[in-house]
Amino acid sequence: MEFIGIANVGNTFDNRLIFKVYSKVNDYLRENGLKNIRLLLLKKINLSPAYLITIDTQDGKMKGYSLEALIDLLYAHLLEEREKILMDREYNLLIKKELHPELKLEDEINKLRFDKILGIVNFPLVSRNPYFDFYEKFLGIHKKVGDKKIMVLSIKPFYSEEEELFVERVAKGVLHEIGHSFGLEHCKNACIMRQPKTLREWDLTKPRFCGDCFVRLVKNAGE
Ligand SMILES: [Zn+2]
Ligand SMILES: [Zn+2]
Repeated sequence: MEFIGIANVGNTFDNRLIFKVYSKVNDYLRENGLKNIRLLLLKKINLSPAYLITIDTQDGKMKGYSLEALIDLLYAHLLEEREKILMDREYNLLIKKELHPELKLEDEINKLRFDKILGIVNFPLVSRNPYFDFYEKFLGIHKKVGDKKIMVLSIKPFYSEEEELFVERVAKGVLHEIGHSFGLEHCKNACIMRQPKTLREWDLTKPRFCGDCFVRLVKNAGE
């Protein structure tokens, strides 16, 4: 089983909404036949104003949260949550081994992977590093730290007064980022990996991986 952590960053996105997004994405993963990839809802991360920085841009000074600091925080959060889950897992396996002495603990522990985290934000992010790849229109940021993958998705472009629509847009964004995290690129087919040009196009996109992307995803995920 491969777990991908999802955490709400800051105070702006309702916890009830993040729960809805999380449930919906897991439904999408199941509907796509991805049995061994699951989103895991982690506790919220609070950002202090200490992380606010000002940078100079062509359009003057801009204030926002430091992307690099946010990535460090998400990385630390992933390691901390990962440790807890692995310990729980080990404990449960030790109990199980009492009943099934033939069980190989090492093998069982290695079956669980949890090396990815996605932070949901809805505030501006800025970077002092001019070479840091900034947002694709609508979608997220990816950064590899060692063998861990840190992703950030801004929900701002997805906003709608209509809650269901809002949740659906964000959930599809998360599914798209999960695709990237398993090495998928953008796709020209009718597919969740197709990069939308407008929000309307995104609303018409179904939460499905096309055949080509599905095959690659399953191969890369080692399902
Ligand atoms: Zn993308
Ligand atoms: Zn595709």
